[in-house]
Amino acid sequence: MAIATIDPTDGRVLKTYDPLTDADIETSLARAATAFETLRRTTFEQRATWLRAAADILDAERDEIARVMTVEMGKTLTAAKAETAKCATACRFYAKHAEQFLADEPIDPALVKARQAYVRYQPLGPVLAVMPWNFPLWQAMRFAAPALMAGNVGLLKHASNVPQTALFMEDLFRRAGFPEGSFQTLLIGSAQVEAVLKDKRVTAATLTGSEGAGKAVAAIAGRELKKTVLELGGSDPFVVMPSADVQKAAEVAVTARCQNNGQSCIAAKRFIVHTDVYDAFATAFVERMAALVVGDPMDEKTDVGPLATEQGRRDVEELVADAKAHGATVLTGGQAPDQPGWWYPPTVVAGLTKDMRMYDEEVFGPVAGLYRVNSYEEAIEVANSTDFGLGSNAWTTDPAEQERFVTDLEAGAVFVNGMVTSYPELPFGGIKTSGYGRELSHQGIREFCNVKTIWMA
Ligand code: NAP
Repeated sequence: MAIATIDPTDGRVLKTYDPLTDADIETSLARAATAFETLRRTTFEQRATWLRAAADILDAERDEIARVMTVEMGKTLTAAKAETAKCATACRFYAKHAEQFLADEPIDPALVKARQAYVRYQPLGPVLAVMPWNFPLWQAMRFAAPALMAGNVGLLKHASNVPQTALFMEDLFRRAGFPEGSFQTLLIGSAQVEAVLKDKRVTAATLTGSEGAGKAVAAIAGRELKKTVLELGGSDPFVVMPSADVQKAAEVAVTARCQNNGQSCIAAKRFIVHTDVYDAFATAFVERMAALVVGDPMDEKTDVGPLATEQGRRDVEELVADAKAHGATVLTGGQAPDQPGWWYPPTVVAGLTKDMRMYDEEVFGPVAGLYRVNSYEEAIEVANSTDFGLGSNAWTTDPAEQERFVTDLEAGAVFVNGMVTSYPELPFGGIKTSGYGRELSHQGIREFCNVKTIWMA
């Protein structure tokens, strides 16, 4: 894939970049190693000052960087501004809490026959971050803010279609005052990742993206015995039970499915509805999906912009065509318009069965699958029937049923009567093929630390 900004509203190539040469990469890795020797010796207070400065730049330049994201991958400008603001919040969160999250943890010395014992969290070194285009600033920031606060150095290999956002990230941390080389963007293709990850100066890797990319990077890291965190795909269930506020559930379901033009790992993708409320939910949901405004992502009135890439739109079209060919019913949408750009309308597909790809594959676009179930047990069976296990949504006001969902849903998160969202305060990550490890909260900042045991006689 060429490293380029391509406008998804019409497919025009706006800007192309040459990938780094081997010599360029060597320069960057040497700079990263030097930066680590400096950064690891700075105090939390110093790093927090720089990270707060980064947050201030994000606030001051919010509209500009939001426009770049919208041009590069088609999210609405409104969503891009909100993403930028969220990144500033995450920077301030880690600036405030990192020292406490990584404080020495005393252990009762009497229990371990010591005079003194404790655990100390120390940075590992340069960490490679392979990131996707869908939340181009947030996904990278979710890694960068805690990593830098811990004293690690970042090397960002961003998705090839968001180079300008990637370059902004490097510039942001430089301008915020971090030592030269603390966070660098490597404009490289995915084939160049292996050489970077194999380099001894690179200590670990985090990847957010598809299952295929996760497996490829984890395999290299495994051979090199380097730690990885993987945030991969999802096909989150959204279960609606008879006691739920069905109208509210239908309203939230539309946002949960169509946020970010339907291209979110934690978007609700499978709507599993109890037969007692199925018709009421389906009517309200389809009506609202059909009413969404699809159009220019720069326009404030737009709800859904284009998909980010031509291949992404092709994937969505193929999944819907496969469901139709096997007997599914399209209740709204289901047909890409005949115009330039990677447009696809909000779509609801009902009558999905196990022989259809949509049943267990992720649809990365504004396409919802509707399932009718007759019992709690059947709802859980359908909800857990994919290999993914990222987020999950359960709608019920029955406390006993809520508790059962919390226990039974196979996912890294269960949100009851609300949609899955990430907050700096909550750990984020998945199980099964959605990956492993956690980002955000205190769990996230400790992923790339040496948990050092100290024992003194
Ligand atoms: P992708 O194709 O896997 O790309 C993600 C990143 O991996 C890009 O930087 C890409 O580089 C790189 N990459 C791809 N194949 C690689 C390989 N063999 N070796 C090394 N690097 C490789 O995913 P995407 O299409 O950008 O994003 C969509 C997927 O990401 C969805 O499945 C979505 O659910 C998932 N996602 C997960 C989370 C989460 O937190 N769990 C969040 C967001 C998205 P190039 O661009 O150069 O190919």
